[in-house]
Amino acid sequence: MDPRLAYARRMDRSDGLAHHRKRFVGADTDLVYFDGNSLGRPPASAIDRVAAFMREEWGGRLIRGWDESWLNLPYEIGDQIGRAVIQAKAGQTVIGDSTTVLIYKLARAAVDAQLARDPERREIVVDRDNFPTDRYVLEGIANETGCRLRWIDVDLTRGVTSEQLAEAVGPKTALVVLNHVSYRSAYLADAPELTRIAHDSGALVLWDLCHSAGSVPVHADLWDFDLAVGCTYKYLNGGPGSPAFAYVRDDLHRLLRQPIQGWFGTADLFAMGPEYVPASGIRRFVSGTSPISAMIAMRETLSMIEDAGMPAIRAKSVALTEFAIDLADEWLAPLGVTVGSPRDPEERGGHVILQHEAMREVTARLWQRDVIPDYRDVGGLRIGLAPLSTSFEEVHRGLDVTREVLREVLAERAGLG
Ligand SMILES: *Cc1c(COP(=O)(O)O)cnc(C)c1O
Repeated sequence: MDPRLAYARRMDRSDGLAHHRKRFVGADTDLVYFDGNSLGRPPASAIDRVAAFMREEWGGRLIRGWDESWLNLPYEIGDQIGRAVIQAKAGQTVIGDSTTVLIYKLARAAVDAQLARDPERREIVVDRDNFPTDRYVLEGIANETGCRLRWIDVDLTRGVTSEQLAEAVGPKTALVVLNHVSYRSAYLADAPELTRIAHDSGALVLWDLCHSAGSVPVHADLWDFDLAVGCTYKYLNGGPGSPAFAYVRDDLHRLLRQPIQGWFGTADLFAMGPEYVPASGIRRFVSGTSPISAMIAMRETLSMIEDAGMPAIRAKSVALTEFAIDLADEWLAPLGVTVGSPRDPEERGGHVILQHEAMREVTARLWQRDVIPDYRDVGGLRIGLAPLSTSFEEVHRGLDVTREVLREVLAERAGLG
């Protein structure tokens, strides 16, 4: 037997998280799923949970459901995310809007508070490889508030370093917005250190945790985060469009006022008063009716994470990405593929990007063969490895087929030449 396959099987046998894989829809088929970092698989038990919600809670309780449980659900799940995923004490995390909308609300609140304190603080620091939606939202906020974006140019196989941030921040910085794990390279930023550097200059920091939540440990309180947002449909398996979470450190609540003032964020929801009075606590960052039915599925994964613990999840994530890189070095490097992610696991999140100019075509052919990575320009085959649902044998099979397909594409091109 191929010694790599023997290794994969051995790793699966000794994997303390292996039993979770069976709990996801489709994990028992031969399909290779390398996109759990973009849309996680559905947890099988969520099917029953969602059906029960529709039948009993929505169907049975009708409007009474709001008073009985739904009004509190965004905070209850927020606290569960705080406990299981980002190590935040209760009362600082809530779920509700999309990540994009939450970035807008928190970033705008932070910029407004800084400008009120010191009108000279008009710079928002962000890197050019930050996720597109973050950059676009910040561009809009800069236009609205008369602020200026200060760009950090980064090495695309890495991300923002301490030296780069130290050079970019100063007495003019209002806000710094960073990705914890780069969506492209998987570079894992030194979050506590970068937060400290930004704080030393008097800036607030907004962390985008979309690619780390549920894959890389986060210690929001310990690392002195101000603000953070994260997706729930990636490593938290909430389903397409499930609402994102926002974290706001508790001592900032009374200092920040978010821009979409709606009735769900007022001090007394049913007072229906003449004016908006922001609620105290994390509730003031909520705007309107919460998407309750889209919050149900993620609870299954959150329980699994509480069960497994983030350290075990991270250990498996590192072993999976190491294995993918080893196979890429052995099988794909001879075909001209390079690894576009950091090789030091301390600097790498839960995915790996493999570079070759033929990868767009390779990705399309892989999808036809039921191997599902995704493609990120320029020439990047992105392999997302979800520790709760991905097996080592799956990684082996996926890269084996990738080698075959890449050979085929290169042979065809040579034939044409
Ligand atoms: C996936 C992702 C988003 C997505 O934002 P949506 O509002 O859910 O579309 C934002 N930021 C990062 C870093 C992401 O990876």
